[in-house]
Amino acid sequence: MPPIAEALAGQPIIVGGGLAGLLTALHLAPEPVVVLAKAPLASGAASAWAQGGIAAAVGADDDPALHAADAVTAGAGLCDVPMVQRITEAAPEAVDDLIRRGVAFDRSADGTFKLGLEGAHSRRRIVHAGGDGTGREILRGLIASVRRTPSVTVLEGVEARRLMLTDGRLAGVLAQTKSGPLLLRGSRVVIATGGIGGLYGHTTNPLAAIGQGLALAARAGAVLRDMEFVQFHPTALDVGRDPMPLVSEAVRGEGAILVDEGGERLMAGHSRGELEPRDIVTRAMWRHIAEGHRVFLDARTALGADFAERFPVIATHCHAAGIDPATMPIPVRPAAHYHMGGIAVDQAGRTSVEGVWACGEAAATGLHGANRLASNSLLEAACCARWVATSVAGTAARNRASLRPAAVPRETVDASPVHEIMSRYVGVLRTRDGLRTAIETLRSLAFHDHPAADPALVGLMIATAALLREESRGGHWRTDFPHAAPSDRHLRLAVHNGDVAAHFTPAGSPAIARGA
Ligand SMILES: Cc1cc2nc3c(=O)[nH]c(=O)nc-3n(C[C@H](O)[C@H](O)[C@H](O)COP(=O)(O)OP(=O)(O)OC[C@H]3O[C@@H](n4cnc5c(N)ncnc54)[C@H](O)[C@@H]3O)c2cc1C
Repeated sequence: MPPIAEALAGQPIIVGGGLAGLLTALHLAPEPVVVLAKAPLASGAASAWAQGGIAAAVGADDDPALHAADAVTAGAGLCDVPMVQRITEAAPEAVDDLIRRGVAFDRSADGTFKLGLEGAHSRRRIVHAGGDGTGREILRGLIASVRRTPSVTVLEGVEARRLMLTDGRLAGVLAQTKSGPLLLRGSRVVIATGGIGGLYGHTTNPLAAIGQGLALAARAGAVLRDMEFVQFHPTALDVGRDPMPLVSEAVRGEGAILVDEGGERLMAGHSRGELEPRDIVTRAMWRHIAEGHRVFLDARTALGADFAERFPVIATHCHAAGIDPATMPIPVRPAAHYHMGGIAVDQAGRTSVEGVWACGEAAATGLHGANRLASNSLLEAACCARWVATSVAGTAARNRASLRPAAVPRETVDASPVHEIMSRYVGVLRTRDGLRTAIETLRSLAFHDHPAADPALVGLMIATAALLREESRGGHWRTDFPHAAPSDRHLRLAVHNGDVAAHFTPAGSPAIARGA
């Protein structure tokens, strides 16, 4: 029987120390909470790597309704429109809240925000910090705030491995620490474990972003939604590094163009050129690369000598690889970047399992639909953290006398056995045969005692959903079904009888079954 952290018993348990987790903890103050982060704060969170910024209709020519319309267009029929409206309306206040917590965004001499433009946004509305260091600045501010907040206990190097239920309700979390397993007793948990890019061979995410929260939720019986929608960022720096440093969409927003080794412009025939939605740019690049070409982002004319001042982080990555973006085209290729699907939640972030909430990239709130609009994910995490905290605070803690895990999971988790399968068969372009191959292999890992069991389960849910969705839409592209189906449908998934069960529901249907 693993030791129980009795001193923390009953506190809400927040799994994840990125923007979603830390901000939820801060909104819950002064209620005591415990945050589990498997890596030291800032080092394992995608939040710290965000470059472009956070989208909010704060410009004089902008309006939340315009922001919402852009998100709904990008989402390709699968956005939850009321949730999109709620989040886009809350965006300016979410930015103000971060400022009050010590985050400094870039401003012009007159004090107004410097606003960036990114793909598929109809206005300049990307609030950024330190040029392209937005995520680093946001986490710096929040970590400082958390360290000053005595009600927040942060356990770094502690990895949640199983949710423990009693009578279908949350009773605690089984975690792994450097010195062995640890049990945390509590009836409220928030899953804020971030994305899934680490399941793929090429990613911009921290390599440890392997969707563990999705596996935790699925094994506890939660419903997941639209898992097949994975965003591949078109422009990851292609210099042999993994994770691949991102070359932000904001560089294209400033006028940089995509060319091949012969100088041919890839997006010439498209009305929005390089600022088409990411999936369109990605597929154009993917096909060109498959034909044997290389692709470069050419910022020489658009930015030239100004590059390093506007994008200092990207410039540093380029220089480390011997590339001067002021005078040389930057080699780029698509990489797994963001997961639109995730744990199905309602507007308060509640999942289908009582006592379990989800927030940030791990949650499927309905903001992104089939495709995320750039810079809407920091925004989603920032807005939803407040609503999740309100819901958690309004839910009384329940005492549980006994907590006994059926089995302690393996000491280590290893996603490497799934990289090749996910990249080859569940990547940018998908086919029935490839997905069937992936499912067979992933199923043989997911439900057995194997270090790759949890990553394989998440991959299995993505591949299963991708096989069932016989259409192409947003971030999901089937070469054997290259058009969108006439009806807009969500795909709900759950673990059932040692396999993944799935069924379609119409767009607009409630994300989770139980009452509001
Ligand atoms: C390179 C890059 C650039 C980006 N740029 C932008 C941008 O400009 N604008 C934008 O809106 N979005 C951007 N995104 C996306 C955005 O950063 C993420 O979607 C968002 O930060 C996710 O926040 P989160 O809190 O949900 O997860 P994260 O910030 O990834 O945090 C996850 C946390 O969970 C912890 N964790 C995971 N599993 C466990 C476990 N089992 N037990 C305990 N802890 C666990 C991790 O250690 C980490 O602390 C970018 C992403 C990347 C990778």
